Amino acid sequence: MSPITHFLAGWVTANTASLNRHERAIVTIAGIAPDVDGLGIIAELATRDSAHPLLWWTDYHHVFGHNLLFGVAFAAVAWALAARRWRVAALAFASFHLHLLGDLVGARGPDGYIWTIPYLWPFSAAGVWSWPGQWKLNAWPNLLLTALLLAWTFYRAWRRGCSPLEMFSARMDGVFVSALRQRFGKPPTA
Ligand SMILES: [Zn+2]
Repeated sequence: MSPITHFLAGWVTANTASLNRHERAIVTIAGIAPDVDGLGIIAELATRDSAHPLLWWTDYHHVFGHNLLFGVAFAAVAWALAARRWRVAALAFASFHLHLLGDLVGARGPDGYIWTIPYLWPFSAAGVWSWPGQWKLNAWPNLLLTALLLAWTFYRAWRRGCSPLEMFSARMDGVFVSALRQRFGKPPTA
């Protein structure tokens, strides 16, 4: 799925429990972190005309970050960084797996290529997930899911007074929330 959908799904996961701003950021990032393996595209594009092109995207996208080892490592970092260690590690682990699930069901390329999830990489070539029904990246279920996640994010921001913008700037977040409340009125418990 697209990084935006993963990001919003991570944000929703982060809001299923009582966490502080820092902890919500960790769980949200867990939902998008697997796609760091897509950054290899920069090296690949930069070197494609050289004598020794690097195939980091071709070889590692949907590999390096999309496996159990990466999920466990991320959860361990989450555990170390959070105050509510086990809660945040468990939610980060869940958020990471939602990403894998999203890619499994809806990440098919424009050429019809079905992405697989090498869950046990690099230890075993077995346990590679794939689903023949995988829909395309820009198919309607992905668009609908993104719209629903976005609607929930807006509702949550209006109701609870925090949005994903808090990860970038508390001030921006405050401006956004007060604009929503000016437009839609004050929430019952705010
Ligand atoms: Zn992915």
